[in-house]
Amino acid sequence: MKSKIWLSPPHLGTTERLFVQNAFDTNWVAPSGPHIDGFETDIQTYLGKDTKAVALNSGTAAIHLALVLLNVDSDDEVICQSNTFAACANPIVYQGATPIFVDSEKDTWNICPEQLEIAIKDRLSQGKKPKAIIAVHLYGVPYKVDEINKIAQAYNIPILEDAAEAFGSTYNNNKCGTFGTLGVISFNGNKIITTSGGGALITKDQTLKDKAIYLATQARENTVAYVHKSIGYNYRLSNVLAGIGRGQMQVLDERVNARRFNYDGYKTAFQDIEALEFVAEPTGSKSNRWLTCMLTPSEAIKNNLIVALDHQNIEARPLWKPLHLQPIFEDAPRYLNGISEDLFKRGLCLPSGSSLSEQDLHRVCAVITQFFKQ
Ligand SMILES: *Cc1c(COP(=O)(O)O)cnc(C)c1O
Repeated sequence: MKSKIWLSPPHLGTTERLFVQNAFDTNWVAPSGPHIDGFETDIQTYLGKDTKAVALNSGTAAIHLALVLLNVDSDDEVICQSNTFAACANPIVYQGATPIFVDSEKDTWNICPEQLEIAIKDRLSQGKKPKAIIAVHLYGVPYKVDEINKIAQAYNIPILEDAAEAFGSTYNNNKCGTFGTLGVISFNGNKIITTSGGGALITKDQTLKDKAIYLATQARENTVAYVHKSIGYNYRLSNVLAGIGRGQMQVLDERVNARRFNYDGYKTAFQDIEALEFVAEPTGSKSNRWLTCMLTPSEAIKNNLIVALDHQNIEARPLWKPLHLQPIFEDAPRYLNGISEDLFKRGLCLPSGSSLSEQDLHRVCAVITQFFKQ
C-alpha cells in the first residue's frame, strides 16, 4: 500500500521546539506566561492595522467569547453563513440564541449579499433585529468584504468575521481577521498554522481585549480572595502551546505559498478536464488556499472520485455540509438560493497540506486524471 496522503496535516518548522523547551525550562507550563504575550504580539504585528489579539484555547472559544462580548442573549437571533463548519453556529446555541442561516453566492462560496439583505429585512419585519452577522472566509477565500460591510453598516449590525480558515489571506491588501467588529482565527491541527489546538480573538479596541482576557480567565476580579461579578470561562491558551504558535508564526508566509502552490498545481494539471471547476480569487483578494476545492459535474461523480482516491490511500472529503441541512439545526430559519446545496453535492477538497511533496501532488493528480479518462 502506498503511504497515506492526508487532507491537511500539521506542518511544524524548526523553532517550535525551542519555544516549547523554553516553556519547560522556565516552568511556565500554565495558561499564562511570556509566550502568550509574545504570540499575541506576533499575531498583531502580522495583521497590522492596530489590531489586538487574544490567544485562546480554540477558535470555537473565540467565536463564543465574541458573541458574549456582542451581548448575544437568549432572546436574540444571529445570522450565520450556512455553508460552513458547525463550530460557527454552535456558540450561538451556547448563548441560548437562535441561528438564522443565509446561503452562499457563486463567486466566493461565502455569504450571499442579496440573501443577507433579504434575511435582515424579513427578521426586522417580524420585529427581530439580528444581533450579529457571522461571515466566513471559507477554505481561505475572502467573502465579499465591501458588500457585506456595507449591508451590515446600513442596518447597524456588527460582523463577527470567522477567519478560522483564512489566516494569511488578504482582501484589498488588508489581512483577513481585521474586517469585522470582532475577528476569529483558529490554530487547530488541520489549519494553515497550528498550536495543536488554539484560537485567537481579534479586535481593535483595547477595552474589548481586556474584557475578553478577563472572561477567558474565569472572570476573576482583581482581589486577593476570588470574587466573581460575571460568568467566566476557562478559554485561555496554554503558554506551552503559545510557544508552538510563536514558532509557527515564523513560517506562516511560507505555508501560504506552499498551499497556493498546491492549488496552482492542481489547476494546471486539470486545465484540460472540462468537467472540473475551481473557485476563483475575486478581484482584490488573495486566498491562502487553505484547502484546494473543486466542483465535479454531479454528486455521483464526486462520490466515486472520493472512493477512487481512497483506494489509492489518498484522503479527500466533500465540502462542508451546509448547516441548514444538519439535523440539529432543522428548525432554524433559513434564507436559501440553492447554491450551498449544489456546492455540497458536487464539491470536494483535495489534499492541501503545506508539507505535500511535488511527488505526492503528482500522485493525486494522476488518480484524478485517470478517473476522468474512463
Ligand atoms: C476550524 C474552524 C472553526 C473552529 O476552530 P477550532 O479551533 O477548531 O475550535 C470555526 N470556524 C471555521 C470556519 C473553522 O474551519
